[in-house]
Amino acid sequence: MNSSQITRKGYLFIVSGPSGVGKTVLCNAIVNRFAPDVVYSISTTSRAPRGGETNGQEYFFCAAEEFEKAIERDEFAEWAFVHGNYYGTPRQFLVDNLDAGRHVILNIDVQGAMKIREKFPESIMIFILPPTFDALESRIRKRNMDSEHSLRHRLENARKELDYRDHYRYTVINDDLNAAIGELTSIFAEYVEKRQAEQPAVK
Ligand code: 5GP
Repeated sequence: MNSSQITRKGYLFIVSGPSGVGKTVLCNAIVNRFAPDVVYSISTTSRAPRGGETNGQEYFFCAAEEFEKAIERDEFAEWAFVHGNYYGTPRQFLVDNLDAGRHVILNIDVQGAMKIREKFPESIMIFILPPTFDALESRIRKRNMDSEHSLRHRLENARKELDYRDHYRYTVINDDLNAAIGELTSIFAEYVEKRQAEQPAVK
């Protein structure tokens, strides 16, 4: 690959962290700050929409059987079974945007992140940490959008997810939201500006 091929592409950012840590709020803040250079990859999931969620906004919602067919058609850059539901990153959106020179954020779990890293070793991996596990637990409980069973599952998973933090290049602690947004903004700014300097005319 020559240097002009490399600079044509956007960066791929992976944001992971335990359920309830605030990844979605943080990702939204980044997209608002850096649009149109940075775009958010909307995942497909077989989980039911929560109150207030709209198809095509937070996720593309579908039945488990539909998801399985999409796996067979190789439509996902990665997919994983998380908290009893399928979640996957649509391949076409990802590739099209990277090829167009836009940077893409994936808000995905640690299993998905490890798979993406194999295919896209240059990915910039960011792990969001809670200030303490107790703080995370109380956030998950406060959010209380899930059944008690699913809640327990999420807490167990949160512990397992935290073990993966060392695989990530950056860790951001989400204690004070504005401070976390500031830290994340600096990370993104570094890469966005680097790419702008190399290739100012991103469409
Ligand atoms: P939630 O159901 O709370 O929206 O998301 C549960 C978990 O699934 C979160 O950790 C989220 O990052 C992860 N997730 C969302 N979309 C994807 C995806 O496309 N692939 C993978 N592997 N995980 C995802």
